[in-house]
Amino acid sequence: MCVVALKGNELIEAFHLLQSGGSVPEEVRAILKLSFFDKLKIKMGFPKYIGDFTNDGWSGNLPFYIVWCHWHKIFFIDYPHGFDNHFHCPKCLEEAEKLRARLADGKWI
Ligand SMILES: [Zn+2]
Repeated sequence: MCVVALKGNELIEAFHLLQSGGSVPEEVRAILKLSFFDKLKIKMGFPKYIGDFTNDGWSGNLPFYIVWCHWHKIFFIDYPHGFDNHFHCPKCLEEAEKLRARLADGKWI
């Protein structure tokens, strides 16, 4: 259960803000802060559960996690997707989108 009335997207924005040196309200920082051991565990492949949150257009809540992207070397927040409960790194999604656009334009390479 989570006492902070934040939407998932707002939490993700707050996390980006915090990662780039900005400040967020203390109760939000408490949810998002990572200890040394948290970081170690996450990097070893064990995402940290931070609570159930909703987003606009959702009928309920989903569990949100802080995850590590081994490719981009960043922490990010996401909820499990698909049957295999995978996570989407925002930078991986961005690169996939650029690749799709290049392929659609016939500009491969
Ligand atoms: Zn990535």
